[in-house]
Amino acid sequence: MKKISILFLALGMSFLLRAQQNDDYTKYFTGETMRVDYFHTGTATEEHFSLDRILNDGVWAGSKTVLLDRLNRGLYFVKITDTLTNSLLYSRGFASIFGEWQSIGDPDWGTFHESLRFPWPKLPVKLTIEKRDAKNNFVAIWSTVIDPTSRIVNPSVLSSPYKTFPYIVNGNSDKHVDIVILGDGYTAAEMPKFHKDVAALTDELFTVEPFKSRKADFNVRAVETPSAGSGVNKPHPGVFSRTPLSLSYGAFDSERYALSYDNRSIRDVAASVPYDYMFILINERTYGGGGIFNLYSTVAADNKFSRYIFVHEFGHSFAALADEYYTSDVAYQSIAITVEPWEPNVTALLDPAGLKWKDLVKPGTPIPTPWGKTEFDNFSYGIQKERRALRAANVPETEMENLFEREKKISLEMFDSNKYKEDAGAFEGGNYFQFGIYRSALDCIMFTRNRQAFCPACTRAISEVIDMYSK
Ligand SMILES: [Zn+2]
Repeated sequence: MKKISILFLALGMSFLLRAQQNDDYTKYFTGETMRVDYFHTGTATEEHFSLDRILNDGVWAGSKTVLLDRLNRGLYFVKITDTLTNSLLYSRGFASIFGEWQSIGDPDWGTFHESLRFPWPKLPVKLTIEKRDAKNNFVAIWSTVIDPTSRIVNPSVLSSPYKTFPYIVNGNSDKHVDIVILGDGYTAAEMPKFHKDVAALTDELFTVEPFKSRKADFNVRAVETPSAGSGVNKPHPGVFSRTPLSLSYGAFDSERYALSYDNRSIRDVAASVPYDYMFILINERTYGGGGIFNLYSTVAADNKFSRYIFVHEFGHSFAALADEYYTSDVAYQSIAITVEPWEPNVTALLDPAGLKWKDLVKPGTPIPTPWGKTEFDNFSYGIQKERRALRAANVPETEMENLFEREKKISLEMFDSNKYKEDAGAFEGGNYFQFGIYRSALDCIMFTRNRQAFCPACTRAISEVIDMYSK
């Protein structure tokens, strides 16, 4: 009896809380999306912001009940506060290309265009950007007041010249995660191929948990931006081209890192449909992609491993998952390991008793968890050496794909004999660190190309984001 009344009390409270949150939404916001475009400029040691445009991005696709981000992810955090009462109305963690660029220590100045989107406020609001300090706490680094009636705010809604098509539509945008898929390097004649790629890769995402069982919480739409020629810019092999979204391999001089710095164009194209998350398909076979939390992810659509890369990169951009691999050469190193990383799927294990996924670990599992690391490291560093040699020799993509197949076969055999292969624990190596960083499981999509399955920490981290956009 007591249990039942507590249950009803809890249900009643959650109903009241939800009603209150809905009231908050209609009290402070219209049903549209405000987009603040700005320039993020700086050096390896300083950064500055300047406004570009404030625009109307159409109907608000995010949740109207979950307005505050309590997940504590991302290098940056945006807060929208009411200027009269100073109360926090909306918040979101995010990462940026500037943030990654800054970590490579370029001696020159750099400027990157960025956008922040939030529900259109009825009254003046203060926008504050915070960034993590050396201890990973957020500290305010820029703020500006936005009066929605001001002449610098353009309320007119974009009339998109682009053709759009729905692939999965399950319901209203505010109760669903809305993904927009863009394509670059597809000619007008290749649009049927773009549609096919959208279908194949989206279908792949929904074969992997937790996306599989939460498929009804998603909408997926795509926008066509035909280019004059087929393929995108590939500076490493000397193949140069210009495309509508300016996708390019070789970001930060890493041959397989494919990004676009043309945020203005990408945002205008994406705004053709309601969206929370962007994905950009690249009409290329060369292995590559990228994913930046709450910005976008990219993938080369025709590679043998495209389906794997699609899901892996979406893990970065959707749920702020860290890479769990560490033997490949990457263009940058992240933070030193004296503080706990903020990413939900890696830990420095500075406090083993406070392991962030300890509730997922079975009693009796040793922490750290033994996993045949020395043998794997020797093998994996050998593969990376071969990979660099093949890339330098500019061999056909098939040879690279064969190397990856061999890597997959041998590492699967290694992992298969491990006692803890199905268990959560703390497995050393991850986030580009051979030592001192630990993963939650032996294998994961964020670690190898072996299996299409996320580890327990990643699975939970993804579910938490789906909840934020579908409630
Ligand atoms: Zn994982």
